Amino acid sequence: MKPPALPISRRELIASALALPLLAESPAHPLKIVVAGGHPGDPECGCAGTIARYTALGHNVVLLYLNRGEGFCGGASLSRCADIRTAEAEKACQVLKARALFGGQYDGRAIVDPPHYDDFARVLAAESPDLVFTHWPIDRHRDHRAVSMLTLDAWLKAGKRFALYYYEVAEDTMMFSPGDYVDISLVESRRRAACYAHASQQPDKWYPKQVEITRFRGGESGFQQAEAFVRHPESKIGLLP
Ligand SMILES: [Zn+2]
Repeated sequence: MKPPALPISRRELIASALALPLLAESPAHPLKIVVAGGHPGDPECGCAGTIARYTALGHNVVLLYLNRGEGFCGGASLSRCADIRTAEAEKACQVLKARALFGGQYDGRAIVDPPHYDDFARVLAAESPDLVFTHWPIDRHRDHRAVSMLTLDAWLKAGKRFALYYYEVAEDTMMFSPGDYVDISLVESRRRAACYAHASQQPDKWYPKQVEITRFRGGESGFQQAEAFVRHPESKIGLLP
């Protein structure tokens, strides 16, 4: 007996038609992209859809976390937070086919001074990035503001060699007026899985807010959902997926 045909929605059909060539292609010159964030979960919150699209195209993405989230991991003892959140970050990176890297600072106590500018610039330079995403500098959280400053300084020190873009995170980013958009409508499930890898951060509380943002950004740009960015006006134009 012939098995019944599986129903396939119009959206799935479009998704599979678009996804296949993306997976089949491997770029001749894969880009190196670094997404810098204050804590494990920040790069995912602001950019997981964009990261998923980059890696599906064969580009290399590194998630650079300024600290290991030592300051909060739900109900567990603070002494266990760095281990718990490092493991969550590794899991999120696995979902996104990216690599985790840690900046060696401490959650909630970010230091922005000459030695730490130098440290951060060294970490970034070792990756030779083509494009770097970081927090928008006007933000409620000190660690987010710190990593934004550290990235800007490293970019200037590197002679603006890589493209520099800023991203937004739910509840913390303020005064953000994006000019670049990435359609993330077809990678929602991977984006969600990467954010929910950070189980100790109670993603049910913030993930829906981030989805509200990407739906709103989608409305601005003509997509169902989009992540939005500000390019530094003096930055070269980077290849967005
Ligand atoms: Zn954060």
